[in-house]
Order: sequence, then C-alpha cells, then structure tokens
Amino acid sequence: MRKRKRFLSAMGIMMAFLFLVPSTIGAATLFPDLERVPWAEEEIIYLHEEEVVNGLPDGTFGVSDHIRRADAALMLARAKHLDTENVASPSSFPDVKEDAYYFKAVQAAVDAGYLNGYPDGTFGPNDTLTRAQMAKIIAVAFDYTEVNGSYFDDISGNWAKKYINAIAANGISNGTDSGGFEPANNISRAGFSVMLARGMNDTYKVDAQEISQGPAEDPTEDVIESEKKPDPSEKPSNEKNGYLVLLTYHEIVESSSNQEPWKFYRLAKDFEADMKKIKESGVAVKSYGDALTMLENGEPITEPTIIIQFDDGKMSDYEFAFPILKELDLQASFFITPGRADKGGSIYMSWDHIREIYQYTNDDGERLFEVGAHGQTHTRLGKNEDESYEEWLERLQYELEIPQQEIESHLGFKPNLFALPFGSGYGTEEVHVFSESLHYDVMRGWKVDNHNFTNYDTPNVRFYPVYNNSKIEPAIELAKHGK
Ligand SMILES: [Zn+2]
Repeated sequence: MRKRKRFLSAMGIMMAFLFLVPSTIGAATLFPDLERVPWAEEEIIYLHEEEVVNGLPDGTFGVSDHIRRADAALMLARAKHLDTENVASPSSFPDVKEDAYYFKAVQAAVDAGYLNGYPDGTFGPNDTLTRAQMAKIIAVAFDYTEVNGSYFDDISGNWAKKYINAIAANGISNGTDSGGFEPANNISRAGFSVMLARGMNDTYKVDAQEISQGPAEDPTEDVIESEKKPDPSEKPSNEKNGYLVLLTYHEIVESSSNQEPWKFYRLAKDFEADMKKIKESGVAVKSYGDALTMLENGEPITEPTIIIQFDDGKMSDYEFAFPILKELDLQASFFITPGRADKGGSIYMSWDHIREIYQYTNDDGERLFEVGAHGQTHTRLGKNEDESYEEWLERLQYELEIPQQEIESHLGFKPNLFALPFGSGYGTEEVHVFSESLHYDVMRGWKVDNHNFTNYDTPNVRFYPVYNNSKIEPAIELAKHGK
C-alpha cells in the first residue's frame, strides 16, 4: 500500500517536470533563447558586444543552464582583461588540462584571486556555482568592500554573508523573488551574466534604494545593531567555530603498482596512520545519524567534526578499513551499490560482508557503522544526451529507489543516506525532488556547498576526498578552521 502511494507520487513529480520543460520560441535575436529571459537580454547582448560571452556551440546561450566554474572563470578573465597569455604552466590543478579551452582563463582568474581551488587541490571546472559563491567572486573581482549586517533574512550564518551584503550594497543584486538571497541555490548562465554586467557597467545596476527596502531591516541600522549584539549564529555561545568535514575514501589497498598521484586508493598503512592522527587530533568523529540528530534539534554543528566515509562498497572496506576502525573504535559510513553486492565476487563486498559491518557493535553495545546507498548500478545520474527527459527521470527514480528496497530486504532498514556516483546529478532540482519524495536526508555530492543535507542549510560542511597522495593534516585543519 505504502509503496504504491510513493510510486504514484513519483509519477506526479515526473509529470510536473514535463510541463516545466521550456518550449523554444523561434525568433531572430542574437541567441534564440534570450527570449526566455527578458530580464537578462540587454545584459547578455552587452557582454557579447564586450566580447565576454559567445554562447554555446549550438547557437543558443544556454540561459537556464547552471554556469560552470570554468566558464565563470573565462567570463571574468575577459571582463577584467586579465593577461591570459603569460600564465603559469603546467596547470595548477590536476583536473584542469592544458589543452582545455578554459585552461589559461582559470590560471589567470585564480592568480588574480577571483576563484580558488578546493582544499583537495582540484579546481572542479565542471562544477556549478551557488549564488553564495557567485557573490564572493563578484565582490572580490570588483573590489567591493565587505559589509556587515544583513541585507537578506536567509543569509544569517552563511559563510558568504559579507560578500552577499557587499554585492547588495553595490547594486549588483537585490535578492530573488522569494525576498531572500537563496545562497545555496545554483546560478544560471543568464543569472551570472546579469551580475557580471552590473559589475562592469553601472547602467545595469539595480537601484540601491530598492535594496534597502528589502525584507531585512534598514541595513544601516542593522550594522549598528550587529556591532552591539553579535549574531548568535555566527558566534556560537560555546566559542567553538568548527566545520563538518566529509572525509571520503574509496579503495584501501595493501600495495599498488600505480604510483601516479590523484588515484582513488589509499594504502592500508596510510589509512591506519590517518585514523590514528584523527583520533589524536581531538576532532570529533561522528556518523551522519549524529549530525542529522543535531540538525533536527536545531543545534548547529560548531564542534570540529569529521565523518569518515567509504564510497563504492569495495571488498577492501571489509578487509582493511573495518578491522582498523573497530580497533580504534571510530564510527564510519559505508555507501554501497546493491547491484554490485548482489553479484558478490572478489572486488565488491557481498551482502554478508555488508551485514557484518552494519551489525557490528562495540564493547558499549553501540553500532559504529552506517550503511547508505550509492546508486543501484553506479551509473552517472546526470541526464545523458541520448536519453529523453522522461527516460532520465525514470532512470533517476530507479537508481534512487531500488537501493532502498534492496537494503531494506537485506539489512532490514530503509537507508536515508545517498552518495551520488561521481557526484553526478548533484544540486539539480530533479535529484532534490526525488530525494525529498524518497525521504533521503543526505544526498551527498562531490563539493563544498549547501546541498548535502536535503532539509537543512549547512554552510559549514566541507568535502575532503582522500587520494593516494593526500595528506590527512589539511582535513583536520579544515574541520577546525574551514580552510
Ligand atoms: Zn563511486
């Protein structure tokens, strides 16, 4: 009965998406899809005239596509006339190849301090930008002074609050239709273009008067108020100001013939040393369950905390990680792919291995290990070019819902944790809607932003994937200081 109802609601969601698919109206403009964004049309034409944007190979601008970090870097490099000829080589980032069309722009924009790489040393050229990240980039690129107080009622405690205020104070943004700023939402190519055009040319700016009449109190008064009384969400009463680091391992191996850096394995001896250093560091090790309980109780996660997690359900989780974690009495989370567990074999854990990990209790009789889903077949969850929108939604539903059924039948509970394979589909509205309808509390991607916890704004979450050449000390620092 319950299942049937859920299936129907998922169908309803799919139908709702189908009606949202925009129909293209043919018209002779610079980019045919500009007609869909009258609020951005002038700005995009201006950016084209200034040779900042070219549009996509198919002749459209891709107005509603989420802007990628590489393209934001490219637009900034052109807008600010950065020197992209004499850039450092080789590439500063393992995931920015020198033959990529954005290589020079990324090097120049990072050099200029507009964007930074991630703590793990990568750049994430294909990652999307949140509105909070956009605020920081624009504020830094156009030298807007950081502003205290609060222009919007949904940015309290946000890491980018001062930058959001700075762009609001400088006529770049007066927030969204919601009356807030929606810092965790992704920004589209059209949206980013408007912000950039306003930074470049005052004629596109919004009226500063309009901003101060926003939903927040008069910002001037707010600044004075905030000097007297610090915002409790920014300075927690326990004086701690830590971060929740999602420390992510893949395979643990005894030895490897492949010594290249940036490989997704960790030598067992390095893993053991990592765990001992974490234990000695005094940083709290928690489960997602612990973190969710805190969030549900309205307690921000302010103590430096690490969640140790494993993707892919490799046999090495059982052979190497499980014994060390038991010995050190450290909690951890294992994200498994039921389609692989069904087959067993020597590479992936079978259900018997997974069950043994899940059911283990320590001397205090407490369970140390959580199990979450990592897709049913571990395929990419973004829309494939060769599938229709409906086909994609059906595939998404399958990859998100079947693992719940499988884990329930093998382990006796329905998981509320999901790690997106390759981080794919992360931050998309479609994945978010399915995760809500299937009651996933965690929908973990591959980045540092607000989308990891389905129902909570968690700006102090950090992501730290561990490679064969990683150091563990920066992850501990990240938990303590957020960088
Ligand atoms: Zn994976």
